[in-house]
Amino acid sequence: MTFLPLTRHDALKAWADFLQGVGQYAKRRNHVEPLHRNVSRLSAALRFRTLLEDEILRAPLQEHPFHSVEKWVQEVCWRRYWKGWLERRPDVWDSWRRRVRELHETLPEATRQRVKAVAAGESGVACMDEIAQELIATGYVHNHARMWWASYWIHAERLPWELGADVFYRHLLDADPASNTLSWRWVAGLQTPGKTYLVRASNIEKYAPDLLISNRAGSERIADGAIAPVIAPEFANTTRQALIDYPAVVPTSGRRVGIWLHADDLLPEVGPLANLTPVSVAAFSQELDDCPIPALSERSIAAQEEALADGLARTAAHFSCPTEQSTHADPAACLDAWASKHGLEEVVAFAPTVGPVADLLPPVRQRLDKSGVALTLIRRASDAHAFELSGTGFFPFLEKMSRHLRHQKTLFPDL
Ligand SMILES: Cc1cc2nc3c(=O)[nH]c(=O)nc-3n(C[C@H](O)[C@H](O)[C@H](O)COP(=O)(O)OP(=O)(O)OC[C@H]3O[C@@H](n4cnc5c(N)ncnc54)[C@H](O)[C@@H]3O)c2cc1C
Repeated sequence: MTFLPLTRHDALKAWADFLQGVGQYAKRRNHVEPLHRNVSRLSAALRFRTLLEDEILRAPLQEHPFHSVEKWVQEVCWRRYWKGWLERRPDVWDSWRRRVRELHETLPEATRQRVKAVAAGESGVACMDEIAQELIATGYVHNHARMWWASYWIHAERLPWELGADVFYRHLLDADPASNTLSWRWVAGLQTPGKTYLVRASNIEKYAPDLLISNRAGSERIADGAIAPVIAPEFANTTRQALIDYPAVVPTSGRRVGIWLHADDLLPEVGPLANLTPVSVAAFSQELDDCPIPALSERSIAAQEEALADGLARTAAHFSCPTEQSTHADPAACLDAWASKHGLEEVVAFAPTVGPVADLLPPVRQRLDKSGVALTLIRRASDAHAFELSGTGFFPFLEKMSRHLRHQKTLFPDL
């Protein structure tokens, strides 16, 4: 089985394997084991939506009593909660990107060198370096190790959280604007103001004994009680905004339609776009190696391209229409040229969530508007519902989602 499944085929297979032991998830999930078989490793597939959250909730809820899969439901809900939280506060994403740019330009030389060393896994604290090296080598790190490393970066190394989030974003194959930015903010004490997460050697010893026993070098720096929290300043506007109200179905128009496929949802054959009869489907992505922030590692770019290619191949088969894929410095211009080449009157896409694809929307709208082509953005009903519930804290969200899922478990209208 692929270590970190990306394509639909691999993700479904990995999910089928993992489902057999999903009842053990709560007991095993916190342990950091060498091949991470105790967790699903489905995060990259979920990030690109070659697999839907609803798909990995439906079977556990149908086949198991709720209490035995509650932890699984809770973790999947964290993803949806973070997404909904950021949808209402897009400046948190913009502000993070601004700060990374500013910091890269203004960092004193000594700090810049330290950032480089810690990010490369050369900090001198062996267990933290092992985590950084795993990140670079595989594009994946277990959740608990992400928490330890982020905490070490912020509170022990006293480096800006924004630059640590940038290191993760660059290398994680599941790099997600919401889960990454908000988890880093949580460790830094910005999500729950004043409540930071502090790494402790005893916690690592309990959940990842191999990580410490193999090489204890530098471990005194993370000894219990050795770290005092850093209070991170808030730069973002976190005022809650209203959610954009996207339609959940494509209104019938009789127009010549094309589907714009993008990295936020690569599953148009499942859900509200499935019955369209597009003239063409296209995926246009930004030239990622050129884009300074957030920049991606070569491995991450390759993963994104693999996921897009898989999405297009499935789409071509499902809709029996031609597909196009290109990577360009100006994807909005490509999209416009594609619409005109096929005489499109309407471009339909899933509404992107806050992040790089949504950042393309203003120029895309402007170009299509000028060419007289309508842009229709669709939000899956289950996303709209989850985002609607994510207005306050996680636990009220979880309670409402759990109630909803227990009652809706045989429905899942999108599937
Ligand atoms: C500092 C930091 C940065 C992170 N950055 C990202 C990121 O860029 N992208 C990302 O998808 N996740 C991120 N996470 C959350 C979490 O670590 C990963 O989702 C998880 O480790 C992925 O592995 P898995 O698929 O094996 O998880 P499993 O334990 O098998 O969980 C199943 C799914 O539930 C969701 N999930 C589980 N835990 C969390 C969590 N704590 N927060 C949000 N969703 C969760 C994921 O979609 C995951 O695939 C981050 C966490 C921390 C502490």
